[in-house]
Amino acid sequence: SLYNPNTGIYTSPRPPISLPQSPTTSVVDFLFRNLSAYSDRPALIDPHSHEIFTFSQLKRKISDFAHALQYTYNISNGDVVLILSPNSILFPVAFLAVASIGAIVTTANPLYTVQELSHQISDSKPKLIITVDQLLSKVNGFNLPIVDLENYSDLVAKSRGHAVLSPSVSQYDVAAILYSSGTTGLSKGVVLTHRSIIATALMVTSDQEFYKEGKSVFLCVVPLFHIMGLITFTYSQLQRGNAMVVMSRFDLEQALDAIERYKVTHLYTAPPVVVALVKQPAVVRRYDTSSLKEIGSGAAPLSKDTMDECAKVFPQTKILQGYGMTETGGIISIENTRAGFLNSGSSGVLCPGTESKIIHIETSKPLPPNQLGEIWVRGPNLMQEYFHNKEATEQTIDKQGWLHTGDLGYFDEGGRIYVVDRLKELIKFKGYQVAPAELEGLLVSHPEIMDAAVIPYPDEEAGEIPMAYVVIKHGSRINGEEVQNFIAKQVAPFKRIRKVAFIDVIPKAASGKILRRELRQKIQSKL
Ligand code: AMP
Repeated sequence: SLYNPNTGIYTSPRPPISLPQSPTTSVVDFLFRNLSAYSDRPALIDPHSHEIFTFSQLKRKISDFAHALQYTYNISNGDVVLILSPNSILFPVAFLAVASIGAIVTTANPLYTVQELSHQISDSKPKLIITVDQLLSKVNGFNLPIVDLENYSDLVAKSRGHAVLSPSVSQYDVAAILYSSGTTGLSKGVVLTHRSIIATALMVTSDQEFYKEGKSVFLCVVPLFHIMGLITFTYSQLQRGNAMVVMSRFDLEQALDAIERYKVTHLYTAPPVVVALVKQPAVVRRYDTSSLKEIGSGAAPLSKDTMDECAKVFPQTKILQGYGMTETGGIISIENTRAGFLNSGSSGVLCPGTESKIIHIETSKPLPPNQLGEIWVRGPNLMQEYFHNKEATEQTIDKQGWLHTGDLGYFDEGGRIYVVDRLKELIKFKGYQVAPAELEGLLVSHPEIMDAAVIPYPDEEAGEIPMAYVVIKHGSRINGEEVQNFIAKQVAPFKRIRKVAFIDVIPKAASGKILRRELRQKIQSKL
């Protein structure tokens, strides 16, 4: 069994991964370790301009850019470089160039205000900013050198022929400080080493033997500044020799067009994209999506209903979920698509090397299968620490190395993990716990409801009642009472939705998480 009742530990059913032996393997060395097998195959594809970088071109671009950064800006081991850019095929080039010389990448959301950027800049203290023309005005005021990611060829030309010291990079050096989404409090810098990133890449792809090397084409529609886009998807697949089509942002028709044109085999994304596909089957049918083998979702809970609906829209495609967080290097578990596939609403089984415990919220005792508690994990890809924040690090990773995720979930007998919701998001109705994600999943299964979010609404008698914000289909005349009845038929009385409001869009983070905090603030300011 995958559960040991003596220790309370769940383990992975997958065979272990082997991390590189040499202590000096950087993420870039590792990425190109098998280059000769696919050097002329596409690595990165821009579906807007149709530009393609092959693997050998990618390698060249990384080393040219790295050389220019060393020569012109004297970037070297331990220096922090901020990348502020929308998705593009140049984004991974910048990330890898910086990491290849032992410097540290920090990424920021292009939608950030100057004030939000200033928090991250004063925390991470970058020596240089890499950005694009359209975002220049946001970083001009920081008094730091700036490189234009879309026009760095001059820098490369000027540095050509000039010798620079070749840096030595250890697996244990820091490669990235990624600021975690900040859906819960002020965002903190998650410190990831080269080794942690390499581990994630091996862990995510450990079931992929059966894909013919170099034959899979992935579509990235999630942001590259977030760990999921950058590491869990893009870096992990590039090191397998797979191609990545990088969309600048999600647009349903453009994504479908890219799937048809590049014969995309894998769309790994977040719940809002899956919901968009499910809600617009007529649009999906206008495109040839027969190449799609898998649609994967992560970053937020995706309900079993939505997974089932998606399987109906894409009958030849496997629908699966993965679970991870920035603090765990981007992955904890993923569905094993080789073992008998089950479209179960779970987030799959633990990745190789990952151990987990489910901890009772009140007694702190480890729990056996089918019992709900906080998910703790341990593994080779965990963050080293929160940057310059010992207190937060100690609150998150305990002395035995367990990272307390703050997520509520359970394992079934077969070792599949079910992530119910974030603990902090739970609604307390007369002391009963109600997980907003469960109700949101049910709400979007209604044909006239396009999207939904559930939050606590203060109530004198019950403490909190579940309140739903819903986005309804254009022309729909469904009213609040009907919405409430639709849910009441499907859940225990304490989970019923007791208040409904209609809204045009549900606020979401770029990673796909519902910003319930914003909706809660809306309520508070009304009251
Ligand atoms: P981030 O660091 O932005 O990736 O956020 C990590 C958090 O996203 C986790 O702690 C979970 O709350 C949530 N999350 C990620 N994947 C899933 C999933 N498959 N199901 C439910 N929640 C998820």
